Amino acid sequence: MHNRIHQGHFARKRFGQNFLNDHCVIDSIVSAIHPLPGEAVIEIGPGLGALTEPVVDRLDKMTVIELDRDLATRLINHPKLKDKLIVHQQDAMKTDFSALAKLAGQPLRVFGNLPYNISTPLMFRLFGYTNTISDMHFMLQKEVVKRLVAAPDSKAYGRLTVMAQYYCRIIPVLEVPSTAFTPAPKVDSAVVRLTPHRQQPNPVSDIRLLGLITTQAFNQRRKTIRNSLGELFTPEQLTKLSIDPAFRAENVTVAQYCRLTNWLSDQATHSNRSL
Ligand code: SAM
Repeated sequence: MHNRIHQGHFARKRFGQNFLNDHCVIDSIVSAIHPLPGEAVIEIGPGLGALTEPVVDRLDKMTVIELDRDLATRLINHPKLKDKLIVHQQDAMKTDFSALAKLAGQPLRVFGNLPYNISTPLMFRLFGYTNTISDMHFMLQKEVVKRLVAAPDSKAYGRLTVMAQYYCRIIPVLEVPSTAFTPAPKVDSAVVRLTPHRQQPNPVSDIRLLGLITTQAFNQRRKTIRNSLGELFTPEQLTKLSIDPAFRAENVTVAQYCRLTNWLSDQATHSNRSL
């Protein structure tokens, strides 16, 4: 049980607390983020400050969002950090990131060794703020990083892949073994960089529809799209859009999902139908 205590803090499982202890890994992450003075940098889940300290060393000030009240208090009173940190003791799932960007007068650079229990919903939430974010660096479960960067025709390619790649260019940065954390998680981790597209390569007119189509397709990923998307498209319509009705969800590219989305929203507009 003693390995749950790190720097005098008892790691709380419910907050997904696995603290980084490996200086080589920490240095590599900070180099990958490459924070520069004057940038609006936001850390989600600073914990005991393993990444916060070396990042803030390169900045004049920085904002952190930490849910755990004890850890937030430690950061507020931290002799080295307190003058530079703006600490929000709150749930990052409730943070208004556009208000933070407005306050900073510039787009945000967001990073964090994310609590694994909320990493996927938190990324989906952040995708809603991509117009006010310049980039994001996250430590995630290695499996999640594989899904984020997956190509079509693979098992890892799923709804998360399509939605994430719709919003961002995604590059894996570093693999991190579980021994780099205290307590060590059961799975390996990896750091990934997500850069919101400045120029959207596959713009869709209704993002809600892209969410709907991908949910429908991947909820039944073993079926052909002729069946899984049968309520939305006839096989002839799929063929007209140059998409093989015999494809399964994982064979359809991001650009093709976007084509389906735009066709469907055009149809809805023309027929005044709501979907
Ligand atoms: N950054 C530290 C490190 O690398 O050692 C801690 C990382 S730990 C995996 C995740 C951190 O996120 C913890 O400090 C935890 O308290 C915090 N956290 C958990 N849920 C959160 C939430 N919903 N909003 C903000 N912070 C949260």
